[in-house]
Formats: sequence, C-alpha cells, structure tokens
Amino acid sequence: MSLTFQRETRQSVFRDPRRDFQESKAEFEIRFDPITGELTRIFPLHNFRLQRRDWAPLATLTREKGCPFCPEALKTATPLFPEAMIPTGRLNRGGATVIPNLSPYAPYSAVVIMCQEHYLPLAHFSTGAIEDGFGAALAFLEQAQAYDPENARYPTVGWNYMPFAGGSIIHPHLQALAGPEPSNRHRLSVERSLSYYRETGRNIWKDLVEKEKERGDRYLWQEGALHWLASFAPRGLGDLTLVFEGKSTLRDLTSQDIHHLAQGLQRVFRFYDSLNLPSFNLALFPAPEKQPGYWLNARLTGRFTVFDWTSDINSLQLLLGDFYSFLSPESIRAKI
Ligand SMILES: [Zn+2]
Repeated sequence: MSLTFQRETRQSVFRDPRRDFQESKAEFEIRFDPITGELTRIFPLHNFRLQRRDWAPLATLTREKGCPFCPEALKTATPLFPEAMIPTGRLNRGGATVIPNLSPYAPYSAVVIMCQEHYLPLAHFSTGAIEDGFGAALAFLEQAQAYDPENARYPTVGWNYMPFAGGSIIHPHLQALAGPEPSNRHRLSVERSLSYYRETGRNIWKDLVEKEKERGDRYLWQEGALHWLASFAPRGLGDLTLVFEGKSTLRDLTSQDIHHLAQGLQRVFRFYDSLNLPSFNLALFPAPEKQPGYWLNARLTGRFTVFDWTSDINSLQLLLGDFYSFLSPESIRAKI
C-alpha cells in the first residue's frame, strides 16, 4: 500500500438545449481517498446555489412544544445510567450533561447535551460549549472503557448539527458511542493505516500531513497538535480532515487539544455560514489502543439540501458507496 493522491479528469458529451443542441462537453473529476481508497466525484451542478437557511423559527417551535434537553425538562424527561456505572446517573462537565440515548445503537450510546441554550446558530457557537461537550463525551467514554473494556473497545464521538445532517433535536448535542466492533469506515481507517505501517514502517497520517503541508493548497493550519486539511477526496461539501499529531487514542487528548479543536471549529463554522452551509456531520476516528502508525483523526462535512427540498444523500453515497462534492478542495483554503 502506498500513499497516493490519485485524481482523473473525465468527460461526458451531450447536445445542449441551451446552445441550440450543439454538442457540448462537460468535465468532472474522480478522486480516490488516499487512506481508504474510496471514490469521490467532483462536479459543478448546473444553477446550484445554497439558499440561506434560518433555523430560528424551528428553534422557537420546538422550544414551545417542549424540549427534553432544556434545563426545565432534562431532569424529569431523560434517562439515567445504571448506578454501577455512573452512580450520579448523569455526567456533568461545565454546562454539558451526558445522558443515555433512549434509542441506543451501541452498548454504550450516550447523548451529550452541550449547553443550556436551546439553539445556537452556527456562527455563534462559543468555544466553551464545544469544549464542555467534547470534554464530557471523552469523560463518558473513558468511564465506559474502564467499566466494560471489551464492549467499549471502539469509542467515537459524532455530531449531527441540525435536521439536514440527521440531528432530530435542535438543542445542541453530540453522540458518544462505544461498542465491541468499529463502524465500517472506522475499521477501514485503522486497518489501512496498520497495513501501511507494516509494509513501510511509516505512519500514513504523518505522511499525509507532511505531503499536504509541502504541497500547500489543501493544508489549512495547525494549532497545537491539531492539523486541519481540506480533504483531498471530499465526502461532501466543505469536507475537512483533522489530524491530531502524536495522538492515537481518545485518552491521548488533553484539554489543550480540545481547546484547539473548539477554536478551529469556530473558524470553520464561520466559513460554513459564509457559504450558507446550514448543517454538518462530524466524527472522530480514534485507535482502540495505542497504535504505532496511527494518529487520531476526524472528518467534518457540510450538509445541505439541493435547491429547496432535495436531500444531498442519494443512491451514489447510500447504495453505490461513492461520494460527491460541488466544491473543489483546492478552493477551500482561499475561502476559509
Ligand atoms: Zn432545548
């Protein structure tokens, strides 16, 4: 296995009704993820413009209907962890509270309510809310691993901001999950890194960061141990790769790392807001235990609707397993 940045330009020919049915060529690009090998298609969409989305009316409506994560309901409407695991029932960190998910999909499936505010617009997220949220998620996952190491072997933190990204509750929250087996792409990330390490004796994430830094047009910035890159093969609009230098497990993350994550996210949120990107998904990919040849990484991808009503997820991603983006990663650096 080698670290390659494979990209090809392809063409498609049609007779264009906008130009008297003259023959017209459209170009698009395909790229392969340097770590997982997965295919991405980059193409411009005719007439596509993101409409500005105001979540405030939905925030008002959902607060009026009653939100289980708002302070007045949290204590009576949300579940408690088993006493043997968390004697206090819920875990608190600053303004954040960790509770069990009422519809769990992993043995350790928690929801982290990040703050007391019911709605935080993207451009107004404080570093405090992000730090409290991630700090609480990490504290919970560490506790789950100490309590049940086998069934909490693969931890991750996910963020689905707003309904277009699958967030079913407006109130800012994260998902903290741990199970005995990794998610599909989590497994791919860890396994491919390990194969590369076995074959070359090198860390693929270190090589990725170095190559991108040298090249320059997708490398964004570094704060502390955290490197930010525009992903070579994006999984969606405004897709970024985060790499924590020298860290492989969640336990390796310090409060300083979380602070740098929060600061970087604030900057990215302002960028997304400037693009009218209304929603995003984020996931962390830690190694289950200290692993040479692996650096903890994360992926952050904007979510939207195509024109007014159309989901950005279609048969390409869901069934064929490809990704697409309308935005070239090389244009992100200038915009951000
Ligand atoms: Zn609320």
